[in-house]
Amino acid sequence: MNKMAVRVPFVDLKLQHEPIQMQLQYAIQSVLEQGDFILGQALSDFEAAFAAVSEAAYGVGVASGTDAIALGLQACNIGAGDEVILPANTFIATLIGVIRAGAKPILVDCDRQTALIDLEAAAKAITPQTKAIIPVHLYGQMVSPRELIKFADTYKLLIFEDAAQAHLAQRDGYHAGSVGIAAAFSFYPSKNLGAFGDGGMLLTRNSDVAQKMGRLRNYGASQKYFHTEPGTNSRLDTLQAAILHQKLPYLPQWNRDRLTIAQQYDLELAPLATTGIIPIENQSDTGHVYHLYVIKVDDSCPIERQQLQEKLTAVGIQTGIHYPIPCHLQPAFSNLGYQPGDFPQAEKLSQQILSLPMYPGLSSSQVKEVVAAIAHAVSTTSKVDETSNADLDSVVA
Ligand SMILES: *Cc1c(COP(=O)(O)O)cnc(C)c1O
Repeated sequence: MNKMAVRVPFVDLKLQHEPIQMQLQYAIQSVLEQGDFILGQALSDFEAAFAAVSEAAYGVGVASGTDAIALGLQACNIGAGDEVILPANTFIATLIGVIRAGAKPILVDCDRQTALIDLEAAAKAITPQTKAIIPVHLYGQMVSPRELIKFADTYKLLIFEDAAQAHLAQRDGYHAGSVGIAAAFSFYPSKNLGAFGDGGMLLTRNSDVAQKMGRLRNYGASQKYFHTEPGTNSRLDTLQAAILHQKLPYLPQWNRDRLTIAQQYDLELAPLATTGIIPIENQSDTGHVYHLYVIKVDDSCPIERQQLQEKLTAVGIQTGIHYPIPCHLQPAFSNLGYQPGDFPQAEKLSQQILSLPMYPGLSSSQVKEVVAAIAHAVSTTSKVDETSNADLDSVVA
């Protein structure tokens, strides 16, 4: 097949930056003039602003979302000797963060409909060593704060949110970042709020946690050249903070755009439910911020996920898979001792999920084009296409 031009990209960041280019350039220029590149004024201003809109008390900017998790857990005094429960189907950084903090990761399965952590499975994983649970607000949908708080109260656990995909998400009257003792955010460029490079932040309601985080990101220094703990160098650049602060006022509108696009996908995909194309369920109404719009290519579908993805690529529609291999089956973590079959829902989802194009500025005609291409692929392909004639004979007979 000829290589086709991309008609619908998976994301397009230019669309959000072009209209505010002058503002962004002005913000960058101001930092250049100020010269306070590390721990500068624009960083503290952005930390305060992002904490405020997320209804948290403190924000501490760091070099990445991964560091926000790893250092954030340490700042909450979660580490050696502690078990931390997290979902098997998350981006690998959640697991890496737990391991870097020195705690023992305990993976659990997810709910097939929402792909979010299964709290019943989590309850079964609790031991006397369990110190915390990390709900991952996957794809932009929060794990129910009401259920989480009940869970954490029952088992006397800390809640540490992985909100890397959930800037300004809401559910049960809570904002992402305000549910637990602390929450980690990422400003990786394609996240709902993205920098011009790497970046992250810990939000917390606890001033001790905020202060310890401030030291950990800055060589463990409580004042210059006086080190109270073995920290590291992980600061959000002043330049990135200035850029993010300029973008922050647009985030609510960008999130609303994402929701509108998701609602159109929901509506137009609904007739395909009978063919086994099932969107991941939104159980949080308008509080879902749709970092990703993900469908399942179910068992009943006449086509496999991989075939569908290839057919879409062939007509210029880019898609993604978040994520193709669950954490427990990654070779790097085989030492944790997990086996295929340990988390059936996460494993099955990893085989069946497909992330469709989703970004502010994706047009309604592009959404229609994506859905039409899926409908066409489903109606013109069957799984027997890729199998042998013998199989075909048995189907015909
Ligand atoms: C992106 C992401 C992270 C890591 O953030 P980085 O800034 O890339 O280090 C952690 N958890 C989840 C769920 C993410 O999507």
